[in-house]
Amino acid sequence: MIVSKFGGTSVGTFEAMQRSARIVAADPNRQLIVISATSGTTNDLVALSSELDSTKREEILGRIEERHLAIIEQLRDQETARNDFYTEFSNLREHLDFVGRDKRWKDRLYAFGELMSTRIFVQVLRENGVKAEWLDARDVLKTDSTFSNADPVLSSIKKKADTLINPEKIYLTQGFIGSDIFGNTTTLGRGGSDFSASIFAEAVGADTLEIWTDVAGVYTTDPRIVPEAYPIHEISFDEAAELSVFGGKVLHPATLKPAMRGGVSVRVASSSDPDAPGTYIVKEADQKPTIRAISLRKDQTLLTVNSLEMLHQHGFLAHLFNTLAEHKISVDLVSTSEVSVALTLDTAVNAANKVELTDQVLEELGHFAEVLVEKDLALIALIGNDLQKTSGIGGPLFTALENYNVRLICHGASPNNLCFLVDHKQAEDIVRMVHKKFIER
Ligand code: ASP
Ligand code: MG
Repeated sequence: MIVSKFGGTSVGTFEAMQRSARIVAADPNRQLIVISATSGTTNDLVALSSELDSTKREEILGRIEERHLAIIEQLRDQETARNDFYTEFSNLREHLDFVGRDKRWKDRLYAFGELMSTRIFVQVLRENGVKAEWLDARDVLKTDSTFSNADPVLSSIKKKADTLINPEKIYLTQGFIGSDIFGNTTTLGRGGSDFSASIFAEAVGADTLEIWTDVAGVYTTDPRIVPEAYPIHEISFDEAAELSVFGGKVLHPATLKPAMRGGVSVRVASSSDPDAPGTYIVKEADQKPTIRAISLRKDQTLLTVNSLEMLHQHGFLAHLFNTLAEHKISVDLVSTSEVSVALTLDTAVNAANKVELTDQVLEELGHFAEVLVEKDLALIALIGNDLQKTSGIGGPLFTALENYNVRLICHGASPNNLCFLVDHKQAEDIVRMVHKKFIER
């Protein structure tokens, strides 16, 4: 069984939906199809979540309606899709009139994107000979009640999948959304559809998870920064996990975990070029280059915590991390000296685990340490194999970086990742330089 996920741009227009539907139709093993909202729609819904005057609100609603109608108008059977779409659309309108705009209300609002796209795509699939059943992801994908960033509850998901998913049939369902034990709609965080698909793949025991997107696979680095970057043919889970965690453009950070656990191999490919191989993510890759890829994450913040209390003391780090944990602040890199700790936090607006360093956190930390915040940094990660060994790459790399101001280096924690923090203005130059020196063929 193959679980196939199509992203927003792969279902964003009638033509894109047609291409994606043809991919599904080409292999009868593609039995569980997971899709995102049409591209732009989740952003529109996020915009609708703030208090808007009625003109602005109608403008955004109009845009959403138009985008979907433009697709429906090209269907052979428009009747069903139009009715199903308008059912969701009028529920969306009604939902906007509710008072109490809390997180739960927002997740219910964001879910309309995927509900609307699947209502239409199910018809596109039918018109391409695929008789898929529309499955409400919320009936299967059970989560906790952390709205906007919910955690899947695997045992419940497996049970639901066993009873609701018949391995003889084909299903179309929504990415990104789930529901908690009370039946409230939840979402898995921005870009969460990949994660959903991976969870479904594990739950149904799929052989392969396909992520169909608008790029030809996982690239050696962001091709917008380095035009010479190319799609990687094969990469191990361990490397890919580092890559997605450190800002690989294609995958939501948590995507690979369920697939890895379930022994599901992953293929990332472009829905507009389905015959190109794309990237295979496997347990063991045939080739193991020292540096396979480079990732760049901007908007990183460095928090330096300094305290004499730390000198020859125990419990200081625990205290620090407890405070951060209480505020749900996720830390990426850590480096320590005798009396200080430096931490990096992802403060990018659309980071899956966006960190907000509030005054309250800073004040609490200030009770037991001196705190320094540096912004506008970028994190560059080199992904590959045996990177923890100092022989080989370390020398040439650090020589190459000589003229740049490297703020923090993390080396040795993982054989698959060596990363460093630099001024964001120098970051792209460094990526180009490292790619040229160490990756280009
Ligand atoms: N539609 C959601 C978003 O835009 C989830 C996804 O596309 O993966 O974040
Ligand atoms: Mg997306």
